[in-house]
Amino acid sequence: MGNPATTPTVREAWVGKCPRCGTCSFFAGLPGTDYVGQQVVRPGKFNSVSVPCSCGRRFQTDINALMFGTIASLSIQRSSTDAFAVEQSYAGAKTDLGPMSEMELWAYLNSRTLIDIIPSRLLTLLNVAKALDMDMILSVVRPPLADSQVARS
Ligand SMILES: [Zn+2]
Repeated sequence: MGNPATTPTVREAWVGKCPRCGTCSFFAGLPGTDYVGQQVVRPGKFNSVSVPCSCGRRFQTDINALMFGTIASLSIQRSSTDAFAVEQSYAGAKTDLGPMSEMELWAYLNSRTLIDIIPSRLLTLLNVAKALDMDMILSVVRPPLADSQVARS
């Protein structure tokens, strides 16, 4: 554990997770702030909303379903027909995840929790754009209440 002066701040946000595809969505009313490892308090006011997911489905999220996580961003650049340069940014540090083939990138994206985009859509976009930035959940700080069986106090 570092002291607060040296702990890098990281991006975080409350998100909702689509039960169908596992992709998470941001909420405009719950903006992310810098997270430095402090106690995270579930927002007091959050009305149940129906969220349009990028997989085409809608899902309902209420306050108990909210999940708090730290966010890393991913920069993906197509370097040739079947090669992508992938770089992860987190807490001000960049990590080169190395060149990936389309299949490796597919497997990687499917093993992560992406935000507001699904892997197939991302690959489709990469056919048109040479480079894309996207967000993903790096770690879950507060899981949904339904998952954690937190006793009410
Ligand atoms: Zn979905």
